[in-house]
Amino acid sequence: MALIVQKFGGTSVADPEKIKNVAKRVLQKQKKGNQMVVVLSAMSGETNRLTDFALQMQDFPDTREMDVLLSSGEQVTISLFAMAVKAMGDDCISFLGDQVKINTDNSHTKARIQSIDSEKIVAELNSGKIVVVAGFQGVDENGNVTTLGRGGSDTTAVALAAALKADACEIFTDVEGVYTTDPNICNTARKIDRISYDEMLELASLGAKVLDIRSVTFAKKYNVPIHVRSTFTETEGTWVVEEDKEMEGRIVSGVTYNRNEARITISGVPDQPGIAAKIFTPISDADIIVDMIIQNQDTGNGLTDMTFTVIRSDYQRTVQLLKAVIEKTGANGGIHGSDAITKISIVGVGMRNHSGIASTMFNVLSKEGINISMISTSEIKVSCIIEEKYTELAIRALHDAFELDKDNVPEEESLT
Ligand code: ADP
Ligand code: ASP
Ligand code: MG
Repeated sequence: MALIVQKFGGTSVADPEKIKNVAKRVLQKQKKGNQMVVVLSAMSGETNRLTDFALQMQDFPDTREMDVLLSSGEQVTISLFAMAVKAMGDDCISFLGDQVKINTDNSHTKARIQSIDSEKIVAELNSGKIVVVAGFQGVDENGNVTTLGRGGSDTTAVALAAALKADACEIFTDVEGVYTTDPNICNTARKIDRISYDEMLELASLGAKVLDIRSVTFAKKYNVPIHVRSTFTETEGTWVVEEDKEMEGRIVSGVTYNRNEARITISGVPDQPGIAAKIFTPISDADIIVDMIIQNQDTGNGLTDMTFTVIRSDYQRTVQLLKAVIEKTGANGGIHGSDAITKISIVGVGMRNHSGIASTMFNVLSKEGINISMISTSEIKVSCIIEEKYTELAIRALHDAFELDKDNVPEEESLT
């Protein structure tokens, strides 16, 4: 008998009819002799709807209360799912994060799972029930409800699969797997059959929201193979697994975008030791995550510019904080920025051994008349910040230029 964890995202449980269909699918799998643990998201749009309500109450909603609010979305879907299963004549029990003890730290709205007490789940499975667990939520050491950050239900599923030593972890969504780019933007995007944890980590961290990055971190750490697939078809999806030889052959395997960032420049900063610490310490103290950072060369007047990106929802708060920093540092060029930007990235483990990939990317963007305002690179990725209005154009042009629609794996040089 296999133990299978299945996670269904928001579009898969968007209304009562869809929840019934998910229940049918889970029951079919159980009838084949498997023990089933199901993780559900809130109905699609629900977490956004609740967030809008919160913003009508406070400009920067209290994060503890935000978690109490946001966790309600998943409570609705798991209870309805359990009822649907019972109506089909089988037995099912729903659990909230604090009932199965998904223990997290107390970092409200972006909590990290620390441990899972899976005893209750195992007991219910052994009594023949389907167990359905609320995604995206946990409980801190003081009993406060916490949430894991947007997209966090994937992480709940993989963490449960690891804790339960499940035989499989299936992530059901509204596309048929992980593609070379977002198939909803580029119709020549190609489904990837197998992708390494490392490459998936890069894709997820650079915006491919098909899997939450922390779910891939857990999967890699505990060696949980993930099967990403569609709720609405039976087609085989994408396996996220350890790297193998065939994967190494690819130079660029995907194009991603992230519209969730904002760019801020603080100009005329005295170019002295300690200046970066003065700027970034208050920002990190406020729990704001900084992504790309560029410091320009001092042009001879002892002053420099510092440009960086933050999560878009932290834009206004960061600008507020920087106003105080300006006085302390004596920066005299003001603060300017934009929240209408996109980070476009190309990713591929094969980039480690190939040169010229970044320059191809820059040429493609330049040919389309797209200006690059920031660049960052790592061993297996190149990212550029561009104006948001060019997102689709840039994705399609890059996907085309790197021939990602083609299934051919470039030949590696060989000594034989
Ligand atoms: P769920 O609600 O099931 O968790 P998400 O909306 O979080 O689903 O993730 C699925 C979406 O991710 C797809 O509808 C697609 O638009 C988007 N996406 C972005 N990049 C990719 C990619 N490389 N491959 C597949 N989907 C992608
Ligand atoms: N409901 C949460 C969100 O919309 C968590 C998830 O769906 O994974 O982000
Ligand atoms: Mg998701």
